Amino acid sequence: QIEIPEKVNRIISTLAAAGYEAYAVGGCVRDALLGREPADWDITTSASPYQVKALFARTIDTGIQHGTVTVMLGKEGFEVTTYRLDGEYEDCRHPKEVVFTKSLLEDLKRRDFTINAMAYNEERGLVDEFDGVGDLKRGIIRCVGEARERFQEDALRMLRAVRFAAQLGFVLDEQTKQAICELRENLRKVSAERIQTELVKLLVSPHPERLLEAWETGMTAVVLPEFDACMACEQNNPHHSYSVGVHTIKSMGEVEADKVLRLTMLFHDFGKPQAKTTDANGIDHFRGHQKISEELAGGILRRLKFDNETIRQVKKLVSCHDDHPARTPAGVRRAVNRIGTDLFPMYLKVQRADIMAQNPATREDKLAKLYVVTELYEQILKEKDCVTLKQMVITGRDLMMEGIPAGPGLGEVLSKLLDLVIEDPKRNEKTWLLAKAKEIYKAS
Ligand code: ATP
Ligand code: MG
Repeated sequence: QIEIPEKVNRIISTLAAAGYEAYAVGGCVRDALLGREPADWDITTSASPYQVKALFARTIDTGIQHGTVTVMLGKEGFEVTTYRLDGEYEDCRHPKEVVFTKSLLEDLKRRDFTINAMAYNEERGLVDEFDGVGDLKRGIIRCVGEARERFQEDALRMLRAVRFAAQLGFVLDEQTKQAICELRENLRKVSAERIQTELVKLLVSPHPERLLEAWETGMTAVVLPEFDACMACEQNNPHHSYSVGVHTIKSMGEVEADKVLRLTMLFHDFGKPQAKTTDANGIDHFRGHQKISEELAGGILRRLKFDNETIRQVKKLVSCHDDHPARTPAGVRRAVNRIGTDLFPMYLKVQRADIMAQNPATREDKLAKLYVVTELYEQILKEKDCVTLKQMVITGRDLMMEGIPAGPGLGEVLSKLLDLVIEDPKRNEKTWLLAKAKEIYKAS
């Protein structure tokens, strides 16, 4: 009932011909049964890593101490891992030692959820010892064995449970959920990198709103307490009919499944709890929340060890998510310059998502205004209007030839010229700019 790619079959039969057992295992079996295209095919085998290496021409020692060797066939790599038990766990994090075993069943038992603990090869068919197929049909995320024990071994599994629920649209088994509520504090001991991986997979899934389940079970209080503050922050004003937290969740559902966009929507109002003031009429205001949100986003992303480029993009988008450019060609050119040519299209998506998640009563008017900005932006692209230094027809070198010395003064002249060009693109012309440059330099 499962179609295994030819190369995966080749690896399995090579191992079998040498007298070892080998199966496709885990996520790929689950996805294949669901009729989804598996991201990658993992293989589990009774052969030791060295026995695997001896059978294939090109291999990479991906994690040989954990039993994993990558077998290269052409440009494609396949992870082949020796059957193993995880031994004793230390500190809710990592098995103290990895023990290889000859038993497929033992290897399946160490896996996290029933739907991830199935193996398949063409000779034996599906090996499903924990009713993974039943849980796939029912749409349930259930631990293999005793949930509390499994989460005590590795606390990250709690977050993985919600991540798989979000990816597959499944619900958590009651005992599994109960165990999370009890053991969520153990997530503190899990490394930031592993949490980052699961959080991103959850956010870019078809159901980012399932973050609410991580909140209900108390997991966000441990790994993302700033979100709990948003859930507790009501916002009574004409723009909002939901708490900051619920608005956040809705806004994530309004952008495409892209890491930077979903992270931006997650963080875009995180500063509101701190910025909130209530006027005499009981209306809530959040002046300056963009700046606080930006700082919080930067802190959280650094804490979770995100890369610098992701941090830069998300911070910038959070800080400008509420910008409203003047709806004129020059106004939008100024905004593109400020926000950046790379991020402006994303800013438009962020704006739209934010509006869509606000009070429906104010939506039409705001969308109409955003539409005007979008049209003006498209016009700018079409005309190739200059909005950055790079697009100016002169450079610092040209100014130096005209006798303006290198240094901060030169930078200032350039930036003033750019301002003038942004106001009127026709000024992006060499003679005019050089004359203007001298004028600006003399006046300084
Ligand atoms: P994805 O599509 O996200 O790759 P996946 O099921 O392949 O989903 P991985 O994190 O790649 O998930 O892990 C591969 C397999 O290894 C899982 O299906 C599961 O059987 C096992 N596994 C991974 N992490 C754990 C863990 N923390 N505890 C127990 N088993 C795990
Ligand atoms: Mg995988």
